[in-house]
Amino acid sequence: MHEMSLAEGIRSIVDDAVSSQQLGRVRSVVVEIGELSAVEVDALAFCFEAVMKGGPAEGARMEVVRVPGSGWCMQCAQTVVVSRLYDPCPQCGSYQVQPTGGTEMRVRELEVD
Ligand SMILES: [Zn+2]
Repeated sequence: MHEMSLAEGIRSIVDDAVSSQQLGRVRSVVVEIGELSAVEVDALAFCFEAVMKGGPAEGARMEVVRVPGSGWCMQCAQTVVVSRLYDPCPQCGSYQVQPTGGTEMRVRELEVD
C-alpha cells in the first residue's frame, strides 16, 4: 500500500525532528497533501496511527492541509487550476496539461507539548 510507505516517511521525519530538536511529545503533525498527489487521506490517517505506535508521536493527530493543484496547459500556454490528476484544462478542455503544483505531500509542522 502506497499510503503505508508515506506514513513511514512521515514517521522518520517526525523521529528526526524530535531527536535533533529534543522535542517532547508530539500532539499533532500537520501534513500538506496536494490535490494532485493521489494520496488517499483516509488510508493515510489509518496508516499514520499504526506507524506512529511506540514513537514520540504515538496517539498524535494528523492534520491535513490540502494544497490546490495547478498545471501548465500547452494549448493555453498558461498555468491553470486543476483539481484532479488527468483532468482537462478548465479553460480550453485540452488534456495536454502538465501538473506543476499540488503533486506532493510534505510535513509542514509539528505541534509538541
Ligand atoms: Zn487550456
